[in-house]
Amino acid sequence: MTVPVAASPYLQCADCGHQEPLARPPLQCPHCQGDWWDVAYDYEAVAQAWPQALEGRPFDMWRYGELLPLHSYANRATMGEGGTPLLHATNLGMMLGAPHIYVKDERQGPTGSFKDRQAALSLSVMKELGITEAIVASTGNVAISYSAYSALVGIKMWAFVTSLVPPEKMREVAIYGSEVVKVTGTYDQTKKVAAEFARRQGIFIDRGIRSIAARESMKTVAFEIAEQLPLFLGKGDTPWRAPDWYFQSVSGGMGPVGVWKGYQELIKLGLVDRMPRLACIQAEGCAPMVWSYQKGLQVAEPVLHPYTRVITVATGNPGPAYTFLERVVREHGGAFAAISDEETFRAMHVMAKLNGISMEPAAALAFAGLFKLLSEGIVRRDEIVVVNCSGHTFPVEKHLLGKEWARTVELPQETPVIEDGLLGTLEQLDRSVQRIAILEDDANAARLLRRILQARGDYQIFEATDGRSGLEMIRRERPDVVLLDLMMPEVDGFGVLEAMRADQELQGIPVIVATAQELTPNERARLSGHIRMLLQKGAFSDEELLQEVLDALETNGHD
Ligand SMILES: *Cc1c(COP(=O)(O)O)cnc(C)c1O
Ligand SMILES: [Zn+2]
Repeated sequence: MTVPVAASPYLQCADCGHQEPLARPPLQCPHCQGDWWDVAYDYEAVAQAWPQALEGRPFDMWRYGELLPLHSYANRATMGEGGTPLLHATNLGMMLGAPHIYVKDERQGPTGSFKDRQAALSLSVMKELGITEAIVASTGNVAISYSAYSALVGIKMWAFVTSLVPPEKMREVAIYGSEVVKVTGTYDQTKKVAAEFARRQGIFIDRGIRSIAARESMKTVAFEIAEQLPLFLGKGDTPWRAPDWYFQSVSGGMGPVGVWKGYQELIKLGLVDRMPRLACIQAEGCAPMVWSYQKGLQVAEPVLHPYTRVITVATGNPGPAYTFLERVVREHGGAFAAISDEETFRAMHVMAKLNGISMEPAAALAFAGLFKLLSEGIVRRDEIVVVNCSGHTFPVEKHLLGKEWARTVELPQETPVIEDGLLGTLEQLDRSVQRIAILEDDANAARLLRRILQARGDYQIFEATDGRSGLEMIRRERPDVVLLDLMMPEVDGFGVLEAMRADQELQGIPVIVATAQELTPNERARLSGHIRMLLQKGAFSDEELLQEVLDALETNGHD
């Protein structure tokens, strides 16, 4: 394997184009006083080498070394960051009727968030520059990740965090030996305190969105997705593929800014043929980008008093990241969207229960954003969507689980005949369980309906795959609600409905029809008055289904 190093990198002032050799950049451009430096590389040389040169390199972020700002491969601070799986979210896709939803599983970094890419490259660069002590300000995950990597390379880290960061995360920062400074204030205030401390002490401070290493590290998310997508979708006209949409929950904007540059470079190299649209999702209680975009501003209006439980993304003043992303979204399409904490927590449960992917609220925010943009028709259901699952639940926020996340069966202490008490309690449990029959010939669709219901309540589910055995099952089990598919072998859904209507015992059971096809007016007439609800298969949310079932159960109770 050839050791990948930066291909003739140099610094370039974003405002006037002034160039400098790649080293620790001056705070301001000597020409125009601008403070935004980019790195550029010898793209022609890289285009010659890639993708062949990458064959045989490990699938981690360092395989893209030609486009990372590190002079020596030996200076890498590495613990297996990057190279995370791209997962096809098939259950979610079936529910939403969107077959091309992919999850970039960034939970699988060494400290459980996509900040590991940023920390790995930033600490590598610090090491290369001979820095021995550094300061970082954070809403939690950057502090955790920078602390881990600073321990690895032996750099002393000062982590300034807002006191709103959950104690579990604080502990995680401290265990790596960082100096933890809690600031009772917002993240923006914390950043100011950290900057002032750095100035007084003359200690190196991570420059956030202005840090070259941090932004460049995020390109590797784009590169990996582009390499992984053809595994699912096959090759297009180019060796790699860009998705139609890149979704991320956004705080400071490091991710989308870096990902955007990553795809621009891949276009230069001829490896992809289009740019994805960026969907930047923010928490409603701290959504400066969303509100500023709605007002048509090119400079962000800060949110001075963030009010959200999703602390990880509570950047009130996104500064130049917004100006950058505003232009990208305005010129190339894309979206900014605000999501309530409630929607975020719901998305977190959906992803865990429907797809087995548990994540922290800051990550779930992006999925809630996807649900919203799909339902608004801004994202089409046939588009290729990649959602960055940016962080794991591991350092949990307290309110992850609802009130009744576990059920207790309490055994009476005093009763001599313990079985009686136990049976009594179990009967109570039985009575709270409601019975639902699912008649559906598509096994995957049936599994999806079952999963949604089981995840959200005490339902006992009975299933049949054709109308005839379905009717027998309904007669035998007397369910409280029937979920009915119309297209089924033997007796179809219409037949089942007619049989139920003709039967005194079954007439009262509410029926919800889920269908994949458009109904003819005649078919609609046959259904009307006999069913509770018509759900379009593959285009409902778990919430809609559950609400229908609950409503149906309630009606039934009154009968
Ligand atoms: C930092 C972070 C974000 C926001 O990322 P930015 O690109 O910096 O805005 C989202 N989710 C998680 C889990 C994070 O740690
Ligand atoms: Zn300049």
